[in-house]
Amino acid sequence: MGLIIIAATSCTTMLLLWLFFRPPFGQNIVRLNTTHRIVALTFDDGPHPPYTEKLLDVLAKHKVKATFFMIGSRIEKYPETVQRVIAEGHQVGNHSYSHPVLGFQPPAQVRREIERTDNLLRQLGAAGEIVFRAPLLTRFLPVAWVLARANRRHVSCSVWSWDWITQNPDRIAHTVLKKVAPGSVIVLHDGKAENPHANRTGTITATDKIITTLKRKKYQFATMADN
Ligand SMILES: [Zn+2]
Repeated sequence: MGLIIIAATSCTTMLLLWLFFRPPFGQNIVRLNTTHRIVALTFDDGPHPPYTEKLLDVLAKHKVKATFFMIGSRIEKYPETVQRVIAEGHQVGNHSYSHPVLGFQPPAQVRREIERTDNLLRQLGAAGEIVFRAPLLTRFLPVAWVLARANRRHVSCSVWSWDWITQNPDRIAHTVLKKVAPGSVIVLHDGKAENPHANRTGTITATDKIITTLKRKKYQFATMADN
């Protein structure tokens, strides 16, 4: 009898943990829906002058569009940067208001973090779908629940650049290029959530290298809105 209770308790715990950390509902985009040589460049944790602007210059040089997942509190600080991102045809996404571990917040707080940032982006001219990516990709149960109720998808990624660990451009570019494949969603950072003064020069140089190499391999670039 004791063994049965232990087994049942263990199974229930495992089930609850799985439900919390890997909620089996809602749409979680990991890759683009294509078998062609198309990838999406995504940049998190901005806007972050002057690095976001330098990145925009690189993207403009290559005529490439990207998706920027922005933090609400930074949007309030740097609205001109956001307006430039939108004016140059890139897609803006919501990355919460204050970049908490959103998956550990109650649903009402998750909703507030998302809505506040949506409103800021709309005020600055964002049109169409505002895609959402949870900080640290924590699409845990409260996040999945709030997004599913709003009929919204979560944008994850398939290629990590590890540019939050290193700003060595060759290492960042090598990490991305060895993993990239048709449909990859690549995550880079024009800002750094925990350090508003972080230097992002390595990410910018790496982005230039990544685009140059991928174009040579006949890759094209899409935003998450194209997916
Ligand atoms: Zn982030």
